[in-house]
Amino acid sequence: MKQIIPFAHDILKESISEGDTVVDATLGNGHDSLFLSQLVGERGRVFSFDIQQEALDQSALLFQEHNVNNVDMVLKGHEFASDVLREKDISSIEGVIFNLGYLPGSDKQIATSSSTTIKAINQLFPLLEPQRYIVIVVYPGHSEGQAEKEELMQFLSGIPAKEADIVKYQMVNRSSGAPFAVALYKK
Ligand code: SAM
Repeated sequence: MKQIIPFAHDILKESISEGDTVVDATLGNGHDSLFLSQLVGERGRVFSFDIQQEALDQSALLFQEHNVNNVDMVLKGHEFASDVLREKDISSIEGVIFNLGYLPGSDKQIATSSSTTIKAINQLFPLLEPQRYIVIVVYPGHSEGQAEKEELMQFLSGIPAKEADIVKYQMVNRSSGAPFAVALYKK
């Protein structure tokens, strides 16, 4: 059975090609960015956002270990993504991942929140090429996570069906705090 992160990665793997420009909205320890960097290859670019220097430092070690040099790490919230991408002359992107919550092994109080997550989706959706995906891994199991899940799902359910198909991938025989993935396909 495909677990949540592999499901999220498979969606991106099917839709991202070498040379593409993609966004990791929550860099964390860099695992998703490493995955994206391998999908886009040397000709592609990954723009990865995090608000914690610790995340950039951890990721830099991972990238060094794997000889990754196509990831641009940005020490800024994803709610500033459109400004950052404009400054870098990026006018379109071919995929996005959000892996919500807090940095594993670090301060759980520094976590994503629905308002900035929604702001970022609103900025990145117009830049996304049609027939491409924004994939979001949601963790409702921590204190902020439940509220973030509810507000995010309410926001996503209001996106008109003519603009996007949005699917939720969730184990139904788990606690209500179990993670799940949402894939938003731009039409
Ligand atoms: N993608 C990561 C990986 O592969 O290791 C895991 C991400 S971790 C679950 C969530 C990250 O989101 C944390 O590192 C946290 O600092 C970051 N974060 C919280 N608020 C943010 C924001 N507004 N913009 C960007 N990153 C944020």
